[in-house]
Amino acid sequence: MHRRITGKLVIATHNPGKLAEMKELLAPYGIEAVSAGDLGLAEPDETGNDFRSNAAIKAIAAARATKLPSFADDSGIVVDALDGAPGIYSARWAGPTKDFTAAMTRIERVLQERGATTPDKRKAHFVSALCVAWPDDHLDEVEARVDGTLVWPPRGTAGFGYDPMFLPDGHSRTFGEMESIEKHGLPPLGLGLSHRARAFVKLAEICLEPR
Ligand code: IMP
Repeated sequence: MHRRITGKLVIATHNPGKLAEMKELLAPYGIEAVSAGDLGLAEPDETGNDFRSNAAIKAIAAARATKLPSFADDSGIVVDALDGAPGIYSARWAGPTKDFTAAMTRIERVLQERGATTPDKRKAHFVSALCVAWPDDHLDEVEARVDGTLVWPPRGTAGFGYDPMFLPDGHSRTFGEMESIEKHGLPPLGLGLSHRARAFVKLAEICLEPR
């Protein structure tokens, strides 16, 4: 049985970009979002083997520490020709300096080494796993993906991470060439296109009540 969230929700992230995006998505539901960073909570190690377990690790740690329902996400890009890499290591491939140009170049190098030069061999998808953990360890979990093809050279300067090399199926512009509202925003303002937007819609259906 899923639980409905009302009142305060801890967003278990120390990433200001993610926090801003999540606050925006939660605003229509009258939820007061506070971040784990603002509350001075420690960041747990992401020791899970998949997106879902890493989201749960972060949400459970915050719920236990604050005794409030807590929300976390874990995401990344999965490249078919790289046997699923970088996957849960998407952030780590960019190294401590968060150099995503280097991370994209590394993906492209391996694609070339494996002869993945035509679009059909360059399939990839972004995944977003969202988890709401309650202080008694009850979990509500959802996951969503967006499928696409990797292009080279990267295109566009909008977005972040691997956006400039990701061309979502059915579109002619990469995520790096799309406005944020187009990529992440929900209809009627945006296309509800991104993995996070799709996962959020699923979570809203089970856990949120519009005001
Ligand atoms: P984490 O969820 O904070 O562990 O990091 C996920 C990593 O996956 C980010 O650092 C990005 O590199 C990548 N990623 C996740 N979502 C997106 C997206 O929408 N666009 C581009 N890269 C993304």
